[in-house]
Amino acid sequence: MTTKRNNQRLGWLADELAQLQEQGRYTNIRTLGSPQGAWLEVDGKKVLNFCSNNYLGLANHPRVTTAARDAIDRFGVGPGAVRTIAGTMTLHEELERKLAEFKRAEAVVTFQSGFSANVGVIPALVGDGDLVISDQLNHASIIDGVRLTKADRTIYEHCNPASLEEVLEENYGQYTRMFVITDGVFSMDGDIAPLPEIVKLAERFGAITVVDDAHGEGVLGKGGRGIVDHFDLHGRVDVEIGTLSKAFGAVGGLAAGSQVLTDWLKQRGRPFLFSSAMTVPDVAACIAAVDLLSESTELVDRLWQNARLFQGEMRRLGFDTGKTQTPITPVMLGDELLAQQFSRRLYEEGVFGTAITFPTVPRGKARIRVMLSAAHSNDDLEAGLQIFARVGKELGVI
Ligand SMILES: *Cc1c(COP(=O)(O)O)cnc(C)c1O
Repeated sequence: MTTKRNNQRLGWLADELAQLQEQGRYTNIRTLGSPQGAWLEVDGKKVLNFCSNNYLGLANHPRVTTAARDAIDRFGVGPGAVRTIAGTMTLHEELERKLAEFKRAEAVVTFQSGFSANVGVIPALVGDGDLVISDQLNHASIIDGVRLTKADRTIYEHCNPASLEEVLEENYGQYTRMFVITDGVFSMDGDIAPLPEIVKLAERFGAITVVDDAHGEGVLGKGGRGIVDHFDLHGRVDVEIGTLSKAFGAVGGLAAGSQVLTDWLKQRGRPFLFSSAMTVPDVAACIAAVDLLSESTELVDRLWQNARLFQGEMRRLGFDTGKTQTPITPVMLGDELLAQQFSRRLYEEGVFGTAITFPTVPRGKARIRVMLSAAHSNDDLEAGLQIFARVGKELGVI
């Protein structure tokens, strides 16, 4: 009886789900039976991995996994509590110190994820009487972070400094503080925010800059030091948000900036205060990842070589790879159902490449997003290109 009543109460969800299926917007979640690597076992089949954010192959790097195992032996698995009560271990402090050094920032504070970092940092800094000015295509976690504040909010055209200038000019002098917030690398298109121009404008209008460098962390800048290093803007970006869940291969988030910023976030960042710390193996894995990246640029160099090779060949084949400037490779297909079909055929041929559809990208801009990694060999890339060519011809895309 109870079950039936519940079903009726949530009946509208079944209708919504059916509608998603009809429109090709229903996400079929695949299950992996292997570690993240160049190849994966997906739903029992071995396929080439073109989907994960494991840019540098660190998710399954022997030094990283060994560090996590050793830390478990010393500290167990769980942090036990929130950071402010009993959850800060020597490991957390070591990671933050090393990250700050790596990124050449005064200080770093970690969060449980990049998402947590945004919903923690933004409301801790932004309040009533402030204005948040967001790039039109900012990540969902930035949008949610802003929604948790009482500030006014507006957008500027994607990666368009002239549009940002207009918004700053229009609102100058009317708010306690203005914040300009942007993704560093836009995850669905792979383009890079024009940060030098944004910083210049923010400085001119006295606005505070926040950049979410989730896809730039471990990818952009010298040896993966991130977007601030890439543009040599050290000390000029007020808050750098990052993730440890992508190139760093584990799960975690961070905010980098001045000491006063991280001191404040430790007092007022709600996910810091009310959600338990990063887990022991995650922290230890990230320490090993920072060590690896500090020692050598080899993995980052390899990632970029792979990206250039693959993207060049895809364009030669006739695919539209959009306006990417990074290893994120959108293969633009447009139609939602075509993208789903393309993804299904890739899988049958041995490539794992998920279709990305509305609402993750705008309607009619569906795509396969290929994520390249330092873990791919030239043979892997060659195999992937051949399969893309075959499926692309079969479905009339090229
Ligand atoms: C992936 C991503 C996040 C979320 O990071 P997690 O560590 O996975 O929570 C936040 N911001 C941007 C721009 C991202 O691409």
